[in-house]
Amino acid sequence: PDTLEALLARVQFDERGLVPVVTQDALTGAVLMQAYASREALEHTLISREGTYYSRSRQELWVKGKTSGHVQRVVSVHVDCDGDSVLYRVEQTGPACHTGETSCFFTPLLESGEGGGLDGVLGRVYGTISERLRTLPEGSYVARLHAGGLDRVLKKVAEESGEVLLAAKNRDGAELATEVADLFFHTLFAMAEVGVTPGDVARVLEGREGKSGLKGPKEVG
Ligand code: AMP
Ligand code: ZN
Ligand code: ZN
Ligand code: ZN
Repeated sequence: PDTLEALLARVQFDERGLVPVVTQDALTGAVLMQAYASREALEHTLISREGTYYSRSRQELWVKGKTSGHVQRVVSVHVDCDGDSVLYRVEQTGPACHTGETSCFFTPLLESGEGGGLDGVLGRVYGTISERLRTLPEGSYVARLHAGGLDRVLKKVAEESGEVLLAAKNRDGAELATEVADLFFHTLFAMAEVGVTPGDVARVLEGREGKSGLKGPKEVG
């Protein structure tokens, strides 16, 4: 095993003696914060396993959570390919951000485009449903169900939910996959009818990442 000295030699501190640190929630994968570490701060992190930084505003060593109690138990520390940035993977107590948000990165500057938010097939199916609702082509299942009104769509959502839980109860995997697909489809349909986008749903899901019940009393739902 490398000595502490050898480990620190892999890290490129800048002209201020600092290295940027990205901090990730080890349980959820969420990116929690970005700050800087001095050599002393990194050393303290490696030895104590407390997430430790250098505060540029206060110009002092900063053990995260020292005043807030929102400490970080460091699971692992990584250095990037060219040694100029460091990753702390942590078990975070409470919110990582001093604003009370789970992550410091709660302000979007750019978001995924139209139909985005739910990557892959769910986003594409939502796009197809929206397009059918705009054009109402003859022979379209979407157009036909839409003609029955929102209640007709919601009745399908309820029906498919029942079929999902029946298939699960029977432990019938093939049937469950089919019924979950039907439930997802009709849920996306109801969303399109009401004007809720995959992005809206994705934002809620993403907001809940890092709010695991494993880590505190906070519950969702
Ligand atoms: P704490 O280390 O959580 O006890 O917080 C001490 C001080 O550090 C706070 O009052 C903030 O000024 C600052 N601080 C805490 N967490 C963050 C963060 N994630 N990003 C930037 N500043 C922070
Ligand atoms: Zn690389
Ligand atoms: Zn780098
Ligand atoms: Zn913050």
